[in-house]
Amino acid sequence: MAHSKGETQVYLVGAGPGDPGLLTLKGRAAIERADVLVYDRLVSPRLLGYARPDCELVYVGKTPDHHTLPQHKINALLVKKALAGNVVVRLKGGDPFVFGRGGEEAEELRAHGLSYEVVPGVTSAIAAPAYAGIPVTHRDAASSFTVITGHERDGKGVSAIPWGQVARLKGTLVFLMGMENLPRIVDNLVGHGMDPATPAAVVRYGTWPMQRTVRAPLAALEERVGEEGIENPAVIVVGQVAALRERLSWAERKPLFGKTVVVTRARHQASALASALEERGAQVLEFPAIEIAPPTDPQPLAEAVAGIEAYRWVVLTSANGVDAFFAEAAAQRLDARCLAGAEVAAIGTGTQAALAAYGITQVHVAREFCAEGLAGLLAGKVRAGDRVLIARAEEARDVLPRALEEQGAQVSDVAAYRTRAVAEGAEALAAALRAGDVDAVTFTSSSTVTNLLACLGGPSLLEGADLYSIGPVTTETLRAAGLEPRAQAVEYTIAGLVAALVDTQEGELL
Ligand code: SAH
Repeated sequence: MAHSKGETQVYLVGAGPGDPGLLTLKGRAAIERADVLVYDRLVSPRLLGYARPDCELVYVGKTPDHHTLPQHKINALLVKKALAGNVVVRLKGGDPFVFGRGGEEAEELRAHGLSYEVVPGVTSAIAAPAYAGIPVTHRDAASSFTVITGHERDGKGVSAIPWGQVARLKGTLVFLMGMENLPRIVDNLVGHGMDPATPAAVVRYGTWPMQRTVRAPLAALEERVGEEGIENPAVIVVGQVAALRERLSWAERKPLFGKTVVVTRARHQASALASALEERGAQVLEFPAIEIAPPTDPQPLAEAVAGIEAYRWVVLTSANGVDAFFAEAAAQRLDARCLAGAEVAAIGTGTQAALAAYGITQVHVAREFCAEGLAGLLAGKVRAGDRVLIARAEEARDVLPRALEEQGAQVSDVAAYRTRAVAEGAEALAAALRAGDVDAVTFTSSSTVTNLLACLGGPSLLEGADLYSIGPVTTETLRAAGLEPRAQAVEYTIAGLVAALVDTQEGELL
């Protein structure tokens, strides 16, 4: 899609410091519009997901030791792509105009007559300290803050930083790109009269799940950083405010902070569990072990929907089943009114919520979120001779239809969808498990167990991690593979699964 007349050609967008939630709305809108997205190393991969599927993604990230693409080539790339008629987004870590060379890019664009827009971002200079519980200003502790580069251009004999003045500033000092020069920075400050006991901190990967913070008096900072193995990317904070961290730290106090948790769900479903875990501080590795696909034979569902008035009961056992049912209904030009004459029953609050999204709110919901629970609930309600439609996963168990048949019902058990194993990403997950980088693995259904085991070539790699099961059926599948879950959700829902993790992982390693 080429840009249209009068539209901005290039957006210099601040991606924020890492936490994808810190991208601005304007930044997101620009990414959604992009034909070409040129992005850096310190940009969350999550943000790339806002780009259109046909958007060209160009990585130009710099690693500390070697430049993937020199700045003049990045400039030339932006110009070339924009002149070719593309809407170009240059997505840069933090704020584009804070040590991001955004100014140089803007000059180059202007020189070529290209229109551009700057979308400021949340800079790591403020956000990394904030996520470590350090306010850069404070009424009692600092009335200014100064952001300084710790990386001076090579070959410069004389420092461009007026150390004499900097060391005398009463406010907070924040150094970016300073880790390699940490000893020099400390020496310069102390050498120019700053109290070696001044509170200081280093925050690495601020706002990311792997955030690490070291707090020490200025003179001891280097040693503590060495002990903790803190490297780039990190900000160095010097000033009285650093001491406030002891009282104000919050991100690191989240119950799952520092934990790496694998989420195995179908791709489009994973985000609810993933975001609940991230909200609690976990680093999530999303592994879409399963994918939802149409059933092998779509005919039975099509026929059931076409003859829906014949059923007194319609039973849906998952949100996927609900979506598949209504997709088929829509294909037959039917809407929610097709269920007007039926009683609707569901397993689980997720299924209930999915039904509510289609306007179906009067639903019999099993309190125990499994087939046995629903069979129990319907025991007194389904009468002999009632026609019951169960629309669910192709590979589902027979418990529910059998139980209803025993009650004398006439059951049509149709496959509404099928779950399929996805191998993609298995290598990376296997490597993380082998390296001991995974603290916990979550399972939201039996099929996630079966498919993950298939992708990993067996259960052995999972033996070192804590496994979490959403409910008894999933637990049985784990046990059948010789794996014992660390915990099973008390309530068989996503929320229950999250609670199980919080209860057993909280504060374990801290
Ligand atoms: N434009 C960026 C800064 C680019 S310079 C901004 O506004 O944040 C790159 C330096 O930023 C790194 O060397 C490091 O000092 C700092 N930095 C970037 N992201 C960071 C993060 N998440 N945590 C700590 N420091 C970070």
